[in-house]
Amino acid sequence: MHAISSINTNVETTQMEADDRFLAYLELRKDTFFHKIPSQKIRYYIDGALAYGKRLAATQDFVSATELCNRLDVTVIKDTESEMRTVRGSLELTKKDQTIRIYHQSLLQIARHHNVPLAQLEEAALLHEIFHLLEEQTQSVSERLGQINTLQFLGFKRRAMVRQTREIAAHAFVKERMQLPYLPNYWDYSWNEGNGSEELIAIGREFQSRMEEPVVEL
Ligand SMILES: [Zn+2]
Repeated sequence: MHAISSINTNVETTQMEADDRFLAYLELRKDTFFHKIPSQKIRYYIDGALAYGKRLAATQDFVSATELCNRLDVTVIKDTESEMRTVRGSLELTKKDQTIRIYHQSLLQIARHHNVPLAQLEEAALLHEIFHLLEEQTQSVSERLGQINTLQFLGFKRRAMVRQTREIAAHAFVKERMQLPYLPNYWDYSWNEGNGSEELIAIGREFQSRMEEPVVEL
């Protein structure tokens, strides 16, 4: 599998295709300790998180996100006012209530940019938060996959979890439930614009060299 099947920098419109591992890599790069993950363990975290999300998707009946929310006793609030542009949804848990908030403005922006039906984005945002809810009830994927060393100095060690694996697993969960052609963080990026995709091309090269490293289990 190739992360990017065609990169043609000579034409104005850059065609890029992203597979699961590459999209997962883009998510992993956002981790606070990304630079501390040994190169040969990158694939371990990516594949582990993707597999976990996919597995969790199969544990629930294949009904709509709204129906799942009903069954799990989750209140859904569609926030049409908030100007929040970067967050699609959030999960609030108290002793009594479980609430998922969906941010309309942010979804609308993606709908326009990628020409995707709003209803589809709402479904994806809801399912993403449902994943986090289900994950709360079990051991999180970042705990399962194990920690990395973040500091090692004169016998003193500090370790941390790779928290961004939870986001990768959530994307895999949504993709599986909705049978999407790609992980939903695909919509966070511009793939066909000459300017915006230059950074993606550079990251794509970095990713390919990382994927060539032999995989090491923790
Ligand atoms: Zn999330």
